[in-house]
Amino acid sequence: MRNLLTFDIEEWWQANYRPAGPQPEDRGDDRLESNVARILRLCRKHRVRATFFVLGQTATRFPELVRRIQADSHEIASHGFRHGLVSTMTPAEFAADLEKSLSVLASITGHRVRGFRAPSWSVRTDRSWFFEALAAAGLDYDSSLFPARTFLYGDRKARRSPHRLAGLVEIPASTISVAGQRIPFASGFFFRLFPLAFIAAAINRLNRKGRSAMIVLHPREFDPEGPRLALRPAERFIQYVNVKGTERKLDRLLATFEFASIGECLDSGELVV
Ligand SMILES: [Zn+2]
Repeated sequence: MRNLLTFDIEEWWQANYRPAGPQPEDRGDDRLESNVARILRLCRKHRVRATFFVLGQTATRFPELVRRIQADSHEIASHGFRHGLVSTMTPAEFAADLEKSLSVLASITGHRVRGFRAPSWSVRTDRSWFFEALAAAGLDYDSSLFPARTFLYGDRKARRSPHRLAGLVEIPASTISVAGQRIPFASGFFFRLFPLAFIAAAINRLNRKGRSAMIVLHPREFDPEGPRLALRPAERFIQYVNVKGTERKLDRLLATFEFASIGECLDSGELVV
């Protein structure tokens, strides 16, 4: 049973919190390349391919970085162009942002992009125009639904396993069900919050049911010394708790479980339904 390894490639300040102070549009990121290099080293060590959802704006500033990821045989997918919340966009605004991100990535990699992940899980199942726009743009899959309600995002009504939706395959964030509650465990904050043993048990539980778990991490989560946003206490906790443990935890999980990119698992037919 293979699990899915994914990263959202964006700069350290790309987050969609309510601003707690002045938030310049573009701050640059002089640690992104070394953080991504850490991720690539870890993938090489475990001989695993991953899906990298690259933000269009970031790809424009760091085209060489995208080529380096591609040179290691990883899959490049889209994380939108400017990290806007889909929930705040009109269908026309979203279509333009999507198109811009796809053309930037295709021009750097020379390949058609197959997958999309919305910034900050900002999509709900009832937003049918979003899924139709992805299918119309020729994508094969989406990974934007978060099937549990959280402080910031999520859709409790979304399905928990990969499924077909509007001509695409939808691959939602991984959750386990405990006493009727859906518990996310493998993405960003939840990955950092929970101990390794809990995450490993949750992956085992999904795998025993024939389902893949999907890990979702960002370069900044591999950088305990990196710059930090000025945030309110709850949001600061969400953004930065246990950053120093991310790399070790992922290293152990990659040694314990089998992982692959979304594209590989789609092609082999092992993901869906
Ligand atoms: Zn993001």
